[in-house]
Amino acid sequence: MNEENNLSYPHAEHPEPGTTIELADGVHWLTMPMPGSLSHINLYLLEDETGWYVVDTGLSNGETAAVWHEIFASALGGKPVIGVICTHMHPDHIGQSAMITEHFKCPLYMTRAEYYQARSFANSAPSHHSSWLGQEFYTRAGMPADYLVQLAKMWEQRSSEGMSMPTMPAGYERLVDGQIITIGKHDWRVVVGSGHSPEHACLYCAALKIMISGDQILPIITSNVSVHPTEPNANPLKDWMDSHDKFLAVPADTFVLPAHNLPFYGVRERLRGLISHHDDRMLAIEEACVEPKVAKDLLPVLFARELDPRQMMMALGEAIAHVHLLIHRNRIQRSLHEDGQYRFLSIDPDLSRRAHPGAHDAPSDGPVMV
Ligand SMILES: [Zn+2]
Repeated sequence: MNEENNLSYPHAEHPEPGTTIELADGVHWLTMPMPGSLSHINLYLLEDETGWYVVDTGLSNGETAAVWHEIFASALGGKPVIGVICTHMHPDHIGQSAMITEHFKCPLYMTRAEYYQARSFANSAPSHHSSWLGQEFYTRAGMPADYLVQLAKMWEQRSSEGMSMPTMPAGYERLVDGQIITIGKHDWRVVVGSGHSPEHACLYCAALKIMISGDQILPIITSNVSVHPTEPNANPLKDWMDSHDKFLAVPADTFVLPAHNLPFYGVRERLRGLISHHDDRMLAIEEACVEPKVAKDLLPVLFARELDPRQMMMALGEAIAHVHLLIHRNRIQRSLHEDGQYRFLSIDPDLSRRAHPGAHDAPSDGPVMV
């Protein structure tokens, strides 16, 4: 058992692509490849008497489809896939949902917000970035005028890597918070979180003490929580922090099976760590905003490393998410200046008592955001 950051990891290595590891009775773990430093996504197979449920599916590219066909041939014991469950609408989770549901003529299970957002993004992405909304959003954040051109190039590259939004199955079965899905001998409860995506489904089995957490709870990477031009005044970090409070009710000895990094114990330690991480980031932003700042100026507070256009988009979205929760808490004021940019200013008279300049978490130099 490896231990790190108060968390423990019973398995030191991921399964090789095309192979599976049984983690508990009827719960099997596999990985699919991802480009870049992320390198993999974890998927899970849940065994029923008559077939298998798949949890998440990998990217929409030929490499991932080929690994799936190896799995179909070698790891399913001659039984079919009878359901595809996608935790949320990001391309590494839904990429093969159409292929698998088509291959086995089986249903896709998702929450309603995730399914319809996936469908709408598959049809429209990334046009919202080049619309007047996108232009206005990035201007207000202080970005250069050619930033949208840089983003357009990035989207082209992404779609060649299979990272763009795939076509979705034409219909789905809806998952709702609290719903019980019985698979084999076990009941799995749907637990919905929000912030990283609108209505992210996790699956919790009390008998096995296992939670399949998708990107809602990751042990090492911090999930991206971003404001985007599609909803420029959204407050996703509030949803994210509320979700962390909700998930603290999960029993402390739960074995968490995440979509990235390794399965781990220590769910409450991780959630409390993430809550204090975001609280610390917000306080660092308040301290930076004692002089008026635009969103772009806040990036060095959160990220130490140089960012490519896509990472910049996610980092900026994340900085704005932190600011929006601070505005909601009446700690930051936003004003629109003649140059078309928003300036943020700290307004809490109590800030000097709470502030601890120089004692914050160092800006993140981790390259990975999911
Ligand atoms: Zn995700």
